[in-house]
Amino acid sequence: GMNYRHAFHAGNFADVLKHCVLALCLEHLKSKPKPFRVIDTHAGIGGYDLASSEAARSPEWKDGIGRLLNADLPEAAAGALAPYLDVVRALNPDGMRHYPGSPEISARLSRADDRIHLCELHEADAKTLDDRYRRDARVKVERRDGYKALKSLLPPKEKRGLVLIDPPFEDRDELAHMAEAVNGAFGQWPTGTYIFWRSLKNLWAADRFDNGLAEWLIAEKGIEPEKILRADLWVRDLASEGKLAGAGVVVINPPFTLEEKLLGLMPWLADTLAQGDGYGWRVDGGLTDEDVEEGLE
Ligand code: SAM
Repeated sequence: GMNYRHAFHAGNFADVLKHCVLALCLEHLKSKPKPFRVIDTHAGIGGYDLASSEAARSPEWKDGIGRLLNADLPEAAAGALAPYLDVVRALNPDGMRHYPGSPEISARLSRADDRIHLCELHEADAKTLDDRYRRDARVKVERRDGYKALKSLLPPKEKRGLVLIDPPFEDRDELAHMAEAVNGAFGQWPTGTYIFWRSLKNLWAADRFDNGLAEWLIAEKGIEPEKILRADLWVRDLASEGKLAGAGVVVINPPFTLEEKLLGLMPWLADTLAQGDGYGWRVDGGLTDEDVEEGLE
């Protein structure tokens, strides 16, 4: 179904990690003058009003971005969060009200010659998104299945850029859909950075997806294990009942600085966003058992 409304979750802990990683990847792309392309397969509506009825009914952002804005950031965390928090702050000069979705983060961290392609399947959301970026010539919005679109959108004419795949996980086979989509598309643009967001219900199920993806990329595409990074954050015991307790990203072709930045950020971020016992994090720069760094509380 198409019942998922991101407005309920905008700015929660999972968005914080995802959008921080997205912003760091965009910053890295900007370090070279050549234009880049962003493809966002599940774009949402671009921005979220935290005073809207959905956000007010489910103020998950208060335990996400809300905890970061006035926090005393240690240097390593401040550096890793800077590109993301700069976007959030620019949208909110007087108190937290507008949360940027991935399209807005991409739009604000892109330059005049960079290009952004957004896919959103939900009819009303696609319209909202299209209205929002109608006057931005860099941004193209399509109401389309992002998985199906991916193959036809790759390769873009730019050599550099990123693909964000951020589905709603309403469908129990979502991980399989993700793997299938990248399976068909990756070879067409092997130089791109790919960011996969996925929920973390238990470490074992996530490992199965991550390792399966990594093994396929290594065996079939000749990718080096170091080119696959994973970062997970869980704010409560993963076995606890109720709302989503954990989430993470898998990044193919991450910027070479990403792992170090996340290693500096995650211990502080996990402490700051914790909602109960058993919270933790892991950052794994090569999806090999030997070099996983993790913190468990
Ligand atoms: N990427 C957004 C962000 O970070 O701000 C949030 C996206 S939200 C998690 C997932 C979105 O995917 C929803 O807006 C939903 O309507 C849309 N969607 C669901 N299935 C889709 C599909 N097959 N293709 C494109 N969009 C889809």
